[in-house]
Amino acid sequence: MSIKKRLIFSNIAVIVIPVIGFLLVEIIWGYILFVIFNGNPTGKDLTLFISVRFIAMILVLIVTNGLLTYYVLKSILIPIKELSVAANKISEGNLDYSVESNKKDELGELSNTFERMRLKLKEAKDAQLQYEKNRHELIASISHDLKTPLTSIKGYIKGIQDGVANTPEKLERYLNITYKTANDMDGLIDELFLYSKLDLKSSPFQFEKVDLYSFFADFIEELAFNLEQEQGTATLVAKKNDSYVVMADREKLRRAVSNILQNSLKYMDKEHKSIQVLLSSQPDTVTIKMSDNGIGISKEAIPFIFEIFYRTDASRNSSTGGSGLGLSIVKKIIEEHGGTVWADSKLGKGTSIYLTLKKVI
Ligand code: ADP
Repeated sequence: MSIKKRLIFSNIAVIVIPVIGFLLVEIIWGYILFVIFNGNPTGKDLTLFISVRFIAMILVLIVTNGLLTYYVLKSILIPIKELSVAANKISEGNLDYSVESNKKDELGELSNTFERMRLKLKEAKDAQLQYEKNRHELIASISHDLKTPLTSIKGYIKGIQDGVANTPEKLERYLNITYKTANDMDGLIDELFLYSKLDLKSSPFQFEKVDLYSFFADFIEELAFNLEQEQGTATLVAKKNDSYVVMADREKLRRAVSNILQNSLKYMDKEHKSIQVLLSSQPDTVTIKMSDNGIGISKEAIPFIFEIFYRTDASRNSSTGGSGLGLSIVKKIIEEHGGTVWADSKLGKGTSIYLTLKKVI
């Protein structure tokens, strides 16, 4: 029952119950005194009747009022007290104190609104903690990834200073390694910078109509040409009459596709390298499937490959090992397009990366 109805009911009851009580007292007490005990409705008996009736009426009034006040207060004050305790706990930082109510009145509604607010606050606090944890991990990973090549550069320079590179060939080798390592660092910093711009959404996207068929035809032509020298193939498969026009930022999409295809080349262990891009058109989207016949990714690793700095052991141990930024950049770019990205892979057989983009209808 709502509080409004409860108050109306209690106001009516506070009049009706005493009236009925007075009548009952009058009838019962009158019957006892004048019928059962044969009292005389004048003089002493009448005075006794009036006095007892007066006291009984006062008692009826007190009891009725007391009970109704208790009923109303209990149903209003107790939930308010509970809410006040919860508000105090929350203000002290305890976000686990639940105030969920199954009452259907206004206070039940207020408790449930409060409960939703508590859950939202808890969610925000958890997200903040997770964010802090991610930030610390990120700083640790960046420091580690920059420190390792720097240590190597310092080592080679020290080698040159100490005269370890004592032949022109050795000196050239040391300088080449130092230059390559510095170059890798430069690339890593560029990637980090791009990731951070995408993360902060400070790199504006310029959307335009892009025909994915001709976009990929250019990519595949260049890739096929490079792979030809190593007996490899790169193919583009699409249905001739379907439309593959999407809204995309051409440059950023080029970056995303290039990261995926570079991984296909990097994690390739077969003699006959094969890369295939398959375009398929749905009513509202275009799906791009980019497959290779490389080393593949284990089932356990698949859910993490789009996370920043995630690298499988195969990547860490290989000489081509990357930074773990490539696919996280892909994810950011595709999500900014309102699209989705996921992977499917079999260890030893190969990997497929899927992208969906919104179609221009
Ligand atoms: P990395 O710079 O290490 O390549 P990415 O973010 O591009 O980082 O990829 C994350 C991880 O996913 C890589 O370390 C690699 O182990 C795995 N991976 C990505 N693409 C492929 C692929 N085509 N074949 C095999 N493994 C892949």
